[in-house]
Amino acid sequence: MAAAAAKLRAAGVPDPARDARLLLAHAAKVDAARVTLIAPEAISPEIAERFEALISLRAVRVPVSHLIGERAFYGRKFMVSGDVLDPRPETETLIEAALAQPFGQLLDLGTGSGCILVTLLSEAPQATGVGLDLSEAACLQASANALRHGVAGRAVIAQSDWFAAASGQFDLIVSNPPYLAAEEMHSVQPELRDYEPRMALTDEADGLSAYRIIAHQAMPFLHPDGRVIVEFGAGQAPQVRKIFADAGWDALTILNDLDDRPRILIAMRAA
Ligand code: GLN
Repeated sequence: MAAAAAKLRAAGVPDPARDARLLLAHAAKVDAARVTLIAPEAISPEIAERFEALISLRAVRVPVSHLIGERAFYGRKFMVSGDVLDPRPETETLIEAALAQPFGQLLDLGTGSGCILVTLLSEAPQATGVGLDLSEAACLQASANALRHGVAGRAVIAQSDWFAAASGQFDLIVSNPPYLAAEEMHSVQPELRDYEPRMALTDEADGLSAYRIIAHQAMPFLHPDGRVIVEFGAGQAPQVRKIFADAGWDALTILNDLDDRPRILIAMRAA
């Protein structure tokens, strides 16, 4: 463990001790919380070999979630791969905001792993939802996660360029769209740059295209008292608020994430 953590530290991995523990747990097929318990025992050569292979991959900055195949989000485990953005803790703030008011029909734009759609359907057992994504591979991943968490019967997941395949009206439209500007892409950490889908990270422009599309096209898809909730990048709050205000949305509210950075916008359909 110490040697593995040192190797990861030398490779610039941000949290080497934590990652070494998670990967040892995966190699030994035990729960991460039990690693300390098995630590005094000698590990079998097969486990040692698997562990070394995992550490070598992590040292070239393959994300832990890709090596173990899943990532925890809002108390559930989601299957992830290089086809989808890794679910992130910031997005749990969007979940809290969505759950603060009841909803029956939900639309998730750019559903990716399906973490938002599947979490909200799991937490709101009466609701039905639609998850759309431009990436067919992401749609498959979201469908697998909907099945895993028992909400596939209440979810429709389809390939779509934003609203293209959407129909009907919803109580709630949510999205965590690609919000990095093209020029920010060279400065992001290697895990994102090399292993997460570029189309989930950037619009190849100023990072605000998705908000313009949603602000201008979402209203007809919302019931009269419906809400839009979007996540955005730290620092984008003034621009995102202005885009929605200029498009005629009401009651704009900005929420902070757990690190106290503004990350979420709630907008009401204008009467
Ligand atoms: N909706 C997914 C998430 O929140 C994917 C977002 C994205 O790919 N930009 O993780």
